[in-house]
Amino acid sequence: MRILVIEDEKKVARFIKKGLEEEGYAVDLAPDGEEGLARVLDQVHDLIILDIALPKIDGLQVLKKLRERKVPTPVLLLTVRAAIEDKVLGLDSGADDYLTKPFAFQELLARIRALLRRKAETGPPLLQVEDLVLDPARHLVTRGGERIDLTSKEFALLEYLMRNAGRVLTRAMISEHVWNYDFDTETNVIDVYVNYLRRKIDSGREKKLIHTVRGSGYALKSE
Ligand code: CA
Repeated sequence: MRILVIEDEKKVARFIKKGLEEEGYAVDLAPDGEEGLARVLDQVHDLIILDIALPKIDGLQVLKKLRERKVPTPVLLLTVRAAIEDKVLGLDSGADDYLTKPFAFQELLARIRALLRRKAETGPPLLQVEDLVLDPARHLVTRGGERIDLTSKEFALLEYLMRNAGRVLTRAMISEHVWNYDFDTETNVIDVYVNYLRRKIDSGREKKLIHTVRGSGYALKSE
């Protein structure tokens, strides 16, 4: 379980990081909203702990941007402001829970567990290869945090490739799994769809993920 903590107060950030690491979580720290946002889009986390009062981009703006980009990660907001309207605003902006500073570490832990449990109950885990993320439950694909719109066939094909990341998949295997019919040597429908996917997933990006394996088929992998 990987948790991102976006918090500018060094003491608080260190306190949270140390405590969570003792509980077996992996913890990334970001000291301001800008870096926090970059970290979120760079790597998938299971949970984000987000302070509201932050330099550069404040917590509520960070939250808004995450939800606009359809980042599904649960967010626990931290604040010293205990005003009802702040809580309402935070929850309306898409936060999953709220904790007012100062808090007892045990309470933070309990809320993290509850959020992670809720997340686990709401659907299958995300598939990820590099910065390409597919959410099977929500039918959502992002690369580098950017939403990619796919047709349902393209989605099914990508999901199959990602579930078998690193493996070479023959046209016959793809045909059987994605199209549910036997491979017909006369048709190049698979190559056509792989090219559609390439255009959406890889085109214009430094790192290509969809690879042609000559004489065999295709593989989705990081190099
Ligand atoms: Ca702060």
